[in-house]
Amino acid sequence: MRPYNFSAGPATLPQAVLQQAADEMLDWQGSGMSVMEMSHRSKEFSSIYEHAEQTLRELLAVPGHYKILFMQGGGLAENAIVPLNLIHRTGKADFIITGSWSAKSLNEARKYGDVHEAASNSSSHGHYKPRTWLPSQETWKIRQDAAYLHICGNETIDGIEFFEWPCLPEQIPLVVDASSHILSRPLDVSRFGLIFAGAQKNIGPAGLTIVIVREDLIGHALPVCPSAFDYKIVADNNSMFNTPPTYAIYIAGLVFDWIKSCGGLRAIEQTNLSKANLLYAALDKSSFYHNPVDPQCRSRMNIPFFLKDPSRNEAFLSGAREAGLLQLKGHKSVGGMRASLYNAMPLAGVQSLVHYLEDFEKRHA
Ligand SMILES: *Cc1c(COP(=O)(O)O)cnc(C)c1O
Repeated sequence: MRPYNFSAGPATLPQAVLQQAADEMLDWQGSGMSVMEMSHRSKEFSSIYEHAEQTLRELLAVPGHYKILFMQGGGLAENAIVPLNLIHRTGKADFIITGSWSAKSLNEARKYGDVHEAASNSSSHGHYKPRTWLPSQETWKIRQDAAYLHICGNETIDGIEFFEWPCLPEQIPLVVDASSHILSRPLDVSRFGLIFAGAQKNIGPAGLTIVIVREDLIGHALPVCPSAFDYKIVADNNSMFNTPPTYAIYIAGLVFDWIKSCGGLRAIEQTNLSKANLLYAALDKSSFYHNPVDPQCRSRMNIPFFLKDPSRNEAFLSGAREAGLLQLKGHKSVGGMRASLYNAMPLAGVQSLVHYLEDFEKRHA
């Protein structure tokens, strides 16, 4: 059996997907080629591409007036690509700052227009303190002429997740960075102008970015926008203006099939809830460990936790590795531990982690 891998990203993938990719590595379905060796314009790859797009559209029930784009550059590139394409209307963009990722998004967008922090959960200036809550919507100060509002749906480092989406004036589309929780539960796509996600958390290999964008937001890129990042050019060419990350798209398609075979997003959500509840309950009942996040907005995907006595961190991590529990070290900016429970992490993996937590506490408390 393979160890359980709690990496925040690139992250664990379903074993069935890796196995199928291994079986098809040298010869994809009798074509005599690896998917890596196919022209992106071949009929073989076209069928892989169309199947992946169609399955994703089905899983998320993406309405017909939204395009799905398969892009490159990851979440951080979208921090530039989104303003390059969307800020044109008024030159202004507003941001809800809830952690490291949304803060990065604002700083990047600053290059392309007038940016504004409409709300923040930061209680400190300078020295980094963990963020533990979400600012309530009544406190958001959104400019009525913002071309869009950006939020990070799940702050991967801080472990904070939105469970209720804001209602905005009709002229302000909502943009969400869903990199670390896309496909973890059903999502009402019609609430958003644009959804983007790097693939390496919950979808597949790094190098692929999924963008789901409402059609009326396409076609307004700033003149300086690189062609490969202009949503209109990408959409008009079915994501093949330049060579797309073909192998990553193939793996993403297998992951979409796997989610369908699990029963779709409702079933996936139930499993994700069970996993997260199990781990939070274990942390909360212990006085040896703790998670500081407000229970209202605790992430189901990324669960940071801290040993009360940080001098035991190294022993905790090496014992975990020996027990087959990999990559539990927290992000360097917050320290401690972090367990990422993406779709591909089975319930048994979380049970195994909880067992280890209890055992380590017994030996060291
Ligand atoms: C990982 C992550 C990113 C960064 O993605 P890159 O692919 O490294 O550019 C952006 N946003 C969120 C929320 C993330 O979790």
